[in-house]
Amino acid sequence: MRVAVDREVCIGSGNCVFSAPTVFDQDDEGLVVLLTAQVDPQDADAVRGAVAHCPSAALRIVED
Ligand code: SF4
Repeated sequence: MRVAVDREVCIGSGNCVFSAPTVFDQDDEGLVVLLTAQVDPQDADAVRGAVAHCPSAALRIVED
């Protein structure tokens, strides 16, 4: 499973970093930074939760 981010629509809420800190980070402006596009299986549920709860729909699952 891979995940993609759209920094153009990210509003910097930080929910994704809270949900999956090994996958998402935020830059100095608070916008999402993807730490790894390839999601470890152990992080898959956390990433799915982050995608579901992103308030701006900036995250997208890319199933391999
Ligand atoms: S949850 Fe969505 S809006 Fe919030 S920082 Fe992450 S990508 Fe951006």
